Amino acid sequence: MIDNSYNPIVPFITCKYYSNYPISQEIINLQNTYNADPISYRKVLLKDAKKSLMVHPHPYAEELRDLKYTTQQLSLEIPNTKFKELENTPFKYIDKLEDLEVLAKELNEVTEFAVDLEHHSYRSYLGITCLMQLSTRNCDYIVDVISLRKHMHVLQEVFANPKIVKVFHGADCDIKWLQRDFAIYVLNMFDTGQASRVLGYSSYSLAYLLKNICNVTANKQYQLADWRIRPLPDEMLHYAREDTHYLLYIYDTLRRRLIGLAKVRSAKDPLTYLNIVLRQSKDICAVVYQKPELKSYHYFMTISHHAASLNKLQRSVLKLMLKLRDYIARLEDDSVSYICPTTVIVNIAKAVPVSLFVIGRQNMLNLKSA
Ligand code: AMP
Ligand code: ZN
Ligand code: MN
Repeated sequence: MIDNSYNPIVPFITCKYYSNYPISQEIINLQNTYNADPISYRKVLLKDAKKSLMVHPHPYAEELRDLKYTTQQLSLEIPNTKFKELENTPFKYIDKLEDLEVLAKELNEVTEFAVDLEHHSYRSYLGITCLMQLSTRNCDYIVDVISLRKHMHVLQEVFANPKIVKVFHGADCDIKWLQRDFAIYVLNMFDTGQASRVLGYSSYSLAYLLKNICNVTANKQYQLADWRIRPLPDEMLHYAREDTHYLLYIYDTLRRRLIGLAKVRSAKDPLTYLNIVLRQSKDICAVVYQKPELKSYHYFMTISHHAASLNKLQRSVLKLMLKLRDYIARLEDDSVSYICPTTVIVNIAKAVPVSLFVIGRQNMLNLKSA
């Protein structure tokens, strides 16, 4: 259910997998408050805009802290099996619950799988995950997470399984989207983007790794496509598959290179650099999704970029318009940029004549104190 209110997001987990710790009291309280009156909880009321959002603890904080990596993932012997050509790889498109349940079983049988998400953020306030791509060593899967949204909890267990490595490229957003939309929390992740950083590559993009390791030229033209559309055209399915298809082979190669780097730099422990990547990946998993806050430091940093050339009066118009825009975006469930681009707001603020501002001041103040 869409919740654009000024209340914190509720982690809808009913149990914790592979855990010796109960769900924290803060999370239970939040769930109880929500369940007592879900409609009121989700109401967008301007008077709540000033609320400072509470951040609930990470549901798997203890498990992340205690996470032990498997012997296999820390092994110095890394398989050198080339990836299968995309054309020769089985592919499953999953938009039915039965198939999702089969997928969960298949993923439970492997020791690692690759994951990526496609997301849409223009006609939605918080943004919406549209697609989940997964690859094992033998098969590519695309999950229509829009149709299966309410069933995605089926995958919570495998993502929380500390014995199964989840390989992502640049997971920062994905981890938060999984939490926000499906209450999926990831334990044991390897981020190939973090590995690129530790290895000191000139680019941290997936396209760079695909070119250098797999000799595949990625076609990034669909990155900003509208991933909500159904049925997805073949080119978009192909593009989406490419994002995970090669990732386990890249994972093997990068692990080998991280071990090689330790040797080159005569590190005492051959796992020095691999462990750095694992630690950074774990830090990414430990982040808790938070709704955007208009008052946040980062938000004002963004607008201050435009605000430098504005006087005090114009700045206060700008600030109130941003607040109004954010409120409307929540009500309409659209992005703020869909409601009104920031440059337009800046131009309006610049154009406000002093006299008009004085007339409108009382209305503005009403809005401010609402
Ligand atoms: P990727 O991990 O590259 O598959 O990207 C996942 C999602 O992030 C895409 O579906 C887009 O919604 C969003 N995204 C990726 N790259 C960009 C970008 N350069 N600008 C804005 N959004 C992006
Ligand atoms: Zn991604
Ligand atoms: Mn992708």
